[in-house]
Amino acid sequence: MVQLEKVLREVEGLRDEMVKTLVELIKIPAISPDYGGEGEYDKAQKLLEIIKDWPFDKVEVYNAPDERAKKGVRPNILAYYYGEKGEESERLWILTHLDVVPPGDLSKWTVTEPFKPLVKDGKVYGRGSEDNGQSLVASLYAVKAMMNLGIRPKKTVILAFVSDEETGSKYGIEWLMREHPELFREDDLVLVPDGGNEDGTFIEVAEKGILWFKLRVRGQQVHASMPDKGLNAHRVALDLAYNLDKRLHEKYSERDELFEPAESTFEPTMGGNPADSPNIIPGEHEVVFDCRVLPRYSLDDILKDIEGIVEEVKERHRKELDGKVLPEIEVEILQRADPAPPTDPKGEIVKLLKEAIKELRGKEAKVGGIGGGTFAAFFRRKGIPAVVWATLDEMAHQPNEYAKIDNMVEDAKVMAYLALR
Ligand SMILES: [Zn+2]
Repeated sequence: MVQLEKVLREVEGLRDEMVKTLVELIKIPAISPDYGGEGEYDKAQKLLEIIKDWPFDKVEVYNAPDERAKKGVRPNILAYYYGEKGEESERLWILTHLDVVPPGDLSKWTVTEPFKPLVKDGKVYGRGSEDNGQSLVASLYAVKAMMNLGIRPKKTVILAFVSDEETGSKYGIEWLMREHPELFREDDLVLVPDGGNEDGTFIEVAEKGILWFKLRVRGQQVHASMPDKGLNAHRVALDLAYNLDKRLHEKYSERDELFEPAESTFEPTMGGNPADSPNIIPGEHEVVFDCRVLPRYSLDDILKDIEGIVEEVKERHRKELDGKVLPEIEVEILQRADPAPPTDPKGEIVKLLKEAIKELRGKEAKVGGIGGGTFAAFFRRKGIPAVVWATLDEMAHQPNEYAKIDNMVEDAKVMAYLALR
């Protein structure tokens, strides 16, 4: 008890240093080569320099090769601070990502430029400030506070700073788990502070599967006054989108109240055709769907149904033109992340986190699932319980992104609590 009080006070005292560190890190853009950036090398170097004299028991760098990135690598850093039983201690991972998304429309950055951080009104502005800088720094100083006091936590804390979260984790956690499975244990506890709500009362234990797909319909372009001479790809695409929308919703309609929304979603999002005049019947048309699927369903089944509906629509509009059977319909998968089994809502990491939020903030946390997209799923697939939690104003990926300094400091206290208990 006394120990916890001391650590919490120490974290509070580190507030200014935390802000300084966050500012230093924001200055270095760590944008994935997929977005035309250099990757995370410089930022990783900066981070290693910051912690150079900190008494971590072990700091390891695992470089995923990627020739497009600076120095040909995507770095992943693991920093260990052992618990009171040394290497025998139970282990708590706190996993954050080094990379950031591009700034987007620069004219919308009205407070400061994306990589010129500004501290104002209790907030730190800049790209990557909240996503994921705030939590990265919080995790660092949760440990620093214990180090300053010479206190060993109950659990070994493993701070992981990984690359490539924003563009799929192929050079980050996915690579690390595949190439270095020995680093992970089934009884590890994992916190991914990369999602959450404004008052830190939402603990995410489950994610839906994600499927993005594009349908490319090919018909035959013709003047709109002579529809019979061609095949209207737009009409075929409307029929297809309507049927997919209706029938996927009907078939995969079960609800799970753990999630918000409780049902799977199938949304037509993008689409269009190159026709640029009202009197042109387009010869091609695209439709894109974003699907978020409850873990009880398999994406393979859904893809099979999509193909079935595609065949049916092709048959309905079938026409031979110049010896060619139309329409042609191609299905392209843009993104696929199969759902992982949920983390037990009654498991240890959830219980501990709830306790911390209750004790430190006097609030009841709610456990739930989201529409998918964090790297907790990689742990869950391996049977390692992982939760996603942080206190966030949800500024991620937005112009004028900021991190609230109070959130950073208060989350560091919760992280310290998890390590000490
Ligand atoms: Zn993030």
